[in-house]
Amino acid sequence: MLTDGLTLTDHHCHGILTRDLDRAGFEQLLSEGATGSFDSALGLAVRRWCAPALDLPPHVGADAYLAHRAELGWREVAVRLLRATGTTSWFLDTGFGGPVSDFSPLTDGEVREIVRLEHVAEQVIAEVGAGRTVFDEIESRLRERASTAVGLKTIVAYRHGLYFPLRTQPPRSVIPERRLTDPDFLGWLVGLGARVGAELGLPLQFHTGFGDTDLRLQRADPLLLTDFLRKTAGTGLTVMLLHCWPFHRNAAYLAHAFDHVRMDVGLTIPHVGHRGQAVLAETLELAPFRSVCYSSDGYGLPELHFLGAMWWRRGLGRLLDEWLAEDLITVADAERLATGIAHINAADAYPIAVAH
Ligand SMILES: [Zn+2]
Repeated sequence: MLTDGLTLTDHHCHGILTRDLDRAGFEQLLSEGATGSFDSALGLAVRRWCAPALDLPPHVGADAYLAHRAELGWREVAVRLLRATGTTSWFLDTGFGGPVSDFSPLTDGEVREIVRLEHVAEQVIAEVGAGRTVFDEIESRLRERASTAVGLKTIVAYRHGLYFPLRTQPPRSVIPERRLTDPDFLGWLVGLGARVGAELGLPLQFHTGFGDTDLRLQRADPLLLTDFLRKTAGTGLTVMLLHCWPFHRNAAYLAHAFDHVRMDVGLTIPHVGHRGQAVLAETLELAPFRSVCYSSDGYGLPELHFLGAMWWRRGLGRLLDEWLAEDLITVADAERLATGIAHINAADAYPIAVAH
């Protein structure tokens, strides 16, 4: 397939657990829900695709897979599976999962940091308390962290929802709590992220669409960001809509309508497995090809980084094969589209020179 040899920039993923896991611990990480199971599309995919990458027969049983995994040890498993993704640049959201220093030794690729706004704010509040100077402290800490990062990220979808009041001034009457849920505070924090991102050329990533049970999915539709996107158009900010399912068509519309919007279907792809082709087809109905980036959103298990890359290659490769068979696209245009999503679009959006 045309996507087989492409090197990838994974513009949004997380670290992995740096210890061996029992069956319950492993299965829990196979789901966004409270408990996961091998008895799922993702479990089947681990047995079908990750097993051969670790020298086991395809479709090996769950117990045999885990026994072999334990024998190899978490580090060797991670090194093999991460290498097999063909990823040369990883952008790690360190607000959830381990630090860059844990992940870097597991890969030959370049590892850069995405800084999570809520994580910075919560750290500062824990350190200095909720006094009136906390807003200035948060801004200076964010600027310090941003100076070595390649992007910013917000989980306002989790904490309030994507329809938040955008504030340019700190809401000084609001005393922030440890866990930030006040809409005015969050509106100020996202506004700060948007300003800093525009100034430093760092894209601002938004969690949108499905996630774990902490989320109210109806508040995570990226269309709720329409007012925010109107206000940030032309400021120099790039907005990255992450995951998006089941609102990937809505996100594609936003990428179509607003020049500064980019999107991915990371997290979605490993979960929908062989239906990744359909999700990519629906995304590319409206999204300009230059606006779509690759990510795995792998977290916890390197199997998830691996399957994200594998299903993405397969999904896009098959879709382009169909378009080629129907003479909808030339080979040269198909290659340009695939290379764009694989790494060029990320290199254009983020302040890095990606070496490929
Ligand atoms: Zn993520």
